Amino acid sequence: MTSHTAAYEDHSVSFHGWASTGTAELTPWNYHPRPLGPKDVEIEITHCGICGSDVLTITETWGKLQHGPCIPGHEIVGKVVAKGAQSHHDIGNLVGIGAMCDACGDCEQCTPGFDNYCRKRTFTYNDAFKDGRQGKSYGGYADRVRVNGEYAFKIPSEISPAEAAPLLCAGITTYAPLKLHGAGPGKTVGVIGIGGLGHLGIQFARAMGCDEVVAISTSDSKRDEAKTLGATKFVNSKNPEELASIAQSLDILLCTSYDKNQNWGELLDLVATRGTFHLLALPETPLSIPGGALLWRQVSMVGSAIGDKEMVKEMLQFAAEKNVRPWIEKMPMSDPNAAVKHMMKGGPRYRIFARVEEQLASFYHDSVKNEEELQSITKYLDIVLCTSDDKNQDWGKLLSLVRPRGTFVLLSLPETPLVIPAYILLSQLAGSAVGSTEAVKEMLQFAAETNVWPWIEKMSMNDPNATVKHLMEGRPRYRVVMESEAASRH
Ligand SMILES: [Zn+2]
Ligand SMILES: [Zn+2]
Repeated sequence: MTSHTAAYEDHSVSFHGWASTGTAELTPWNYHPRPLGPKDVEIEITHCGICGSDVLTITETWGKLQHGPCIPGHEIVGKVVAKGAQSHHDIGNLVGIGAMCDACGDCEQCTPGFDNYCRKRTFTYNDAFKDGRQGKSYGGYADRVRVNGEYAFKIPSEISPAEAAPLLCAGITTYAPLKLHGAGPGKTVGVIGIGGLGHLGIQFARAMGCDEVVAISTSDSKRDEAKTLGATKFVNSKNPEELASIAQSLDILLCTSYDKNQNWGELLDLVATRGTFHLLALPETPLSIPGGALLWRQVSMVGSAIGDKEMVKEMLQFAAEKNVRPWIEKMPMSDPNAAVKHMMKGGPRYRIFARVEEQLASFYHDSVKNEEELQSITKYLDIVLCTSDDKNQDWGKLLSLVRPRGTFVLLSLPETPLVIPAYILLSQLAGSAVGSTEAVKEMLQFAAETNVWPWIEKMSMNDPNATVKHLMEGRPRYRVVMESEAASRH
């Protein structure tokens, strides 16, 4: 293949990589990178991890390649060999690049430090830059790469370059949710799946000082490995007794793997009251969630994609200090096809995938009652309280109204399970039933002070049947209160 040319390319240099045009077979391919911008760095690549996402992207399992030939690879480690005037890096620094290589730095997600959800973020490969300078992004199965230096992270000297590579994707993907949900002393953490993500999740949870770290797998062969990684307990999820032994016990449950016909309610039952189920795998079919599993014990469901750039730095430092290291196999970079084949044999099951936005976009096209009105508040709301639902409710559509990191709270209890696409879990799905005693006292005081009153209809306490009938007919606006005769005489 020959490289294409365009004005935004730097014709003074050519980078050499391995590209896919939609199959697992990679062929040598050269390209001209973007001109080196003021914040950019150029990296001479020494190592690149193979992520499950690489395989799912190049084989077009996640959809057609959008930007021409794709050089995969987003667990990149190498040396800084050139830098723009504003870059803080030093030439010769050993740095790593994960799944994203640019963000705007100035939006409602970037400003508070959640740049991994920036609408203008650019993924490290198979993406186009959105910073106004044009150009496409190419990954690390190559000799060099140019990225925004803000997304090239200095590798602590304690970590070898080969071991640093998987930390940049699998590492941050598991570290971020543990931090988010307060993993540490006093907490019990579960990790479903002992693979690329899970084996790091177990190590991080233990290193954070969690009381218990439960490794959950369908395979007994992982029992010893789990202990070596630091798990305090191993549970074979195919064994009902073992599963029952951890029911309602896990404050944080990281899900990195799932079965074809996963019973999600069964997994949610493992989460402790007010605990969180955190999805890191991306099932292709929607999840079927029994509403009661969320509502009765205030269990939340949420997912996440990688982590913000400050957290990547923190994670690398933490891994260096606490000796958290991925278990790796080294293969020669001269033959990425062999590495990809090796990965495919193991089944690329352990990674979250990055092209969430595109899936969401096609998802909105479903018909709704007033599509325009709904569109106008899509990804707009921080909190959605759901007090009612249709018979054939499209839950994905309702959940898409919530901003990334926002919360959808289920207050009504649907009779049938909620069917939700996994990628929607970049927002939190929570359930809640009544509130604590202290919350009731506070609420009464708050209502008194801020003038919050229910609209009520009074009916006689002598004839509760009339009240029940009135309710069943769906007539009250909005709440019925029965009053005793003695009270009504006052
Ligand atoms: Zn990855
Ligand atoms: Zn931004």
